[in-house]
Amino acid sequence: MTTGSAPFDFQGKHVTVAGLGVSGVPAAKALHARGAIVTVVNDGDDARAREQAEELRALGITVRLGDGATLPEGTELIVTAPGWQPGKPLFRAAGEAGVPVWGDVELAWRLRGPDAAPWLAVTGTNGKTTTVRMLASILEAAGLRTAAVGNIGVSLLDAVLGEETYDVLAVELSSYQLHWAPSLRAHSAAVLNLAPDHLDWHGSMAAYAADKGRIYEGNQVACVYNVADQATEDLVRGADVEEGCRAVGFTLGTPGPSQLGVVEGLLVDRAFVENRQKNAQELAEVSDVRPPVPHNIANALAAAALARAFGVPAQAVRDGLRAFRPDAHRIEHVADIDGVAYVDDSKATNTHAAQASLAAYESIVWIAGGLAKGATFDELVAASAKHLRAVVLIGADRALIREALARHAPEVPVVDLDRTDTGAMVQAVTEAKRLAVAGDTVLLAPACASMDMFTNYNQRGDAFATAVGELRA
Ligand code: ADP
Repeated sequence: MTTGSAPFDFQGKHVTVAGLGVSGVPAAKALHARGAIVTVVNDGDDARAREQAEELRALGITVRLGDGATLPEGTELIVTAPGWQPGKPLFRAAGEAGVPVWGDVELAWRLRGPDAAPWLAVTGTNGKTTTVRMLASILEAAGLRTAAVGNIGVSLLDAVLGEETYDVLAVELSSYQLHWAPSLRAHSAAVLNLAPDHLDWHGSMAAYAADKGRIYEGNQVACVYNVADQATEDLVRGADVEEGCRAVGFTLGTPGPSQLGVVEGLLVDRAFVENRQKNAQELAEVSDVRPPVPHNIANALAAAALARAFGVPAQAVRDGLRAFRPDAHRIEHVADIDGVAYVDDSKATNTHAAQASLAAYESIVWIAGGLAKGATFDELVAASAKHLRAVVLIGADRALIREALARHAPEVPVVDLDRTDTGAMVQAVTEAKRLAVAGDTVLLAPACASMDMFTNYNQRGDAFATAVGELRA
């Protein structure tokens, strides 16, 4: 099943591509190949940009480096890199001139052929990558030709323009991408959860939620929402969908009709079964989910709901979940030493993610801190205090967490490492080992971004694993 958006004729159109980089270069090439007169504008003028510019100029594409603010004369359409903020002068000028702005996802959507694979789309503040990978694994287990694409390493443009043909795509979409994708119409879509994030970009929580909610627009079969997160259900209610499209909830509790949930250790479907008032279909065991912690079971249910909306049999849900391997640094079990588990959740870069992982273990020595990105920690600490054996703080904004701990968990011992160098992780892990007792979990779930101390969350997680390895040695 596909939904056609109006075919767009690029021939002779003056298109401005805003931003070089991951999506800008393939977008410029694709537009040029379709006869558009392409100008690329880019804020930066560094060595990498010059190299990319040279490549594009060789094809006859105009590239303007060092000025991403001025709208090139005659522009009829802008195709922007998703990260470019809506408040930028380029977009203000476009608004005044009545020039539409598309992101890379919108462009990919418009470039799909008439028989292109439908999209099963996922967004949310946390859990997107995991859910999309689980979904792709389930679709594969059902024998479908599919790929996990979007905000996940493989661009939608590559997927849409490449040689490979697909039956269905498992698509991860960020709030930025959704902001710039006005005509996207997914087969079915899920919003996993909604917590404040990227508010500097979107301007407000309402604007952030509205952009996430766009994923439901025009859905054909199912709008999948999180029963535990009312905001996601509200977004479904606000969406304009195809006739017959259903709202389907997922819950860690017993599912009602039109929901997927958990009953006695089983993932159960009461949405895509005949006579859902009475019947339920067993999909898998909770222990088939890797790792079987609550937020990840929720991710598995969301993935299962989308797969079932696409008509996948129950057996494939089970097989797909069993075959799924989580990406690195997401609740990754690194080692057991002297009865203490060491878990790397370096990807918990915001408080909502960290709260989910802190809820997953009974007694935790928590390694936290980094760049707070404007977050506050009171809610996280208050909700997690009962799980904390002790805390080791690292990173630039650790004082914010220390103060929240003093307010909400004053009895929990805190080691505040006054260090932001990369080597601090060895000391943090050593301190954590000293504080942990058998049965505890030492959990790296920083609730912060990593860039004050590390190149990215991968390097932070690797540093943790290396330090744990040294402990063991
Ligand atoms: P995203 O692609 O949205 O960043 P990931 O699947 O990469 O999500 O997971 C990022 C982090 O978010 C994980 O390390 C975990 O701490 C947390 N997380 C994963 N799923 C959920 C969820 N459903 N709810 C809350 N936090 C989650």
